Amino acid sequence: MDSFERYSRQFMLKQTGIEGQEKIGQAKILVCGAGGLGSPVIAYLAAAGIGSIGICDFDTVNLSNLNRQFLYGYKDIGSKKAATAKDFIKNLNPETKITVFEEKLTAGNIDSVMKGYEIAIDAADNFDTRFLINAAAYRNGIPLISGAVCEFEGILTAVVPKESTACFQCVYPFKPADEKTFGIFGAVCGVIGSLQALETLKLILNLETLKNKLLIYDGLQNSFRIKELAKRKNCAVCG
Ligand SMILES: [Zn+2]
Repeated sequence: MDSFERYSRQFMLKQTGIEGQEKIGQAKILVCGAGGLGSPVIAYLAAAGIGSIGICDFDTVNLSNLNRQFLYGYKDIGSKKAATAKDFIKNLNPETKITVFEEKLTAGNIDSVMKGYEIAIDAADNFDTRFLINAAAYRNGIPLISGAVCEFEGILTAVVPKESTACFQCVYPFKPADEKTFGIFGAVCGVIGSLQALETLKLILNLETLKNKLLIYDGLQNSFRIKELAKRKNCAVCG
């Protein structure tokens, strides 16, 4: 009955209903990265009642993370992010089961980490990991919600391998020559991370998502643009 009250504002939505809320409660979602994007993704998915969330992050909390990574506080500096995120969620929604993967994702472990999850979320902070997640999701037929931010901008797309949609590597075939540390406001991560959580919930509820579409957010101009995406010929992953 506690759940009834907790999720009442969600299943009031005709797109959710009790049936949709049950689907959300049974969903198993893997979040790769518990940083600036991962914080809003993990918090909103747990708050929405996702049954099981895998949190994959090998990093520890440092002071410069705290302008955007709100799962952590000052006393968490030096602690492992994934385990600390689990503690945050235990308080927010004890009904969500959290599994922690405190290992760096590699070609050797990514398939076993993804196994059993029905949707993966790319909330990583570097291109090598993004390419790895995208390829593994495609190979394993797992839908992927891919989001990224840089300065005031963000992008978002939904990759659904079983429908043979365009993938992240169709958008970025190669990684940039130099991946520098860039400036960012936490609120920009909040916009894109929140949208990643929403796309995930919409996928679970079989609502229209950003398949074959790239959403481009510009926080300086307050603009959202949607660009149609096509599979790139000879894409190394989906071509
Ligand atoms: Zn592709």
